[in-house]
Amino acid sequence: LRKEMIESEKLRVASVISASVAHEIRNPLTALRGFIQLLSTTPLSDEKKKRYGEICLEELDRAQQIISDYLSLARPHPEYVEILEVGQEIKYIESILSSYALLRGVQLQIETKHEANIEGDRQKLRQALINIVKNGIEAMEQGGVLELKSQIRDNKTIITVTDTGVGMTVEEINRLGTPYFSNKDKGTGLGTMVSFSIIKNMSGSIAVDSQKGKGTVFTIAFPFVKLVEKMS
Ligand code: ADP
Ligand code: MG
Repeated sequence: LRKEMIESEKLRVASVISASVAHEIRNPLTALRGFIQLLSTTPLSDEKKKRYGEICLEELDRAQQIISDYLSLARPHPEYVEILEVGQEIKYIESILSSYALLRGVQLQIETKHEANIEGDRQKLRQALINIVKNGIEAMEQGGVLELKSQIRDNKTIITVTDTGVGMTVEEINRLGTPYFSNKDKGTGLGTMVSFSIIKNMSGSIAVDSQKGKGTVFTIAFPFVKLVEKMS
């Protein structure tokens, strides 16, 4: 009986994971679609065309990366942990989601402190932030401002994601991070589950402040890491 339970638990986890893969693959595909739409409908300088083409390739690579990340969840192997400059990662997120925001009338504002470092797996941090920022953009159907900020406070690296969107009730906030909670037509309710589990695995914490009709602030805190001297 015990073995059966373990097997069925494995199956349950496997099905959650495969649903997550499908969900997460949509992020880079959405970004790709946005850039291809821009490329084919908007007159652009050669420089912009080249940059957008590069981003499309990066996103295709990301889709592949996500697949291997999730496969590795099912069969764990060591993550690639390194020192990450949060400011750099925030700029990356901005470049990835700029077309997605633009098409929805959302202005992305970023503010970074370059010395804010944390330790973790780069692809996973990106995935966690993209899911949260994307939710913020999607919460502003009439457009608005999405602020993505990093700072150092109380020996912690703090990342805040602030939107001026629909906001959430206390009940909705409490359901965040649990699988399949979604208020969207095409939502799967897996994005925050994936983000929260990644952040917790990186020894991070998440606080959510939200007011219905006003907007939401996600405050993500990681242990601050001092830069060790670079190897030659
Ligand atoms: P999905 O985006 O597929 O619905 P998520 O797990 O990413 O799944 O989000 C779950 C739900 O949490 C969303 O459907 C939405 O109702 C709510 N939510 C998440 N972030 C925000 C936000 N910034 N503002 C308002 N609601 C949010
Ligand atoms: Mg989402």
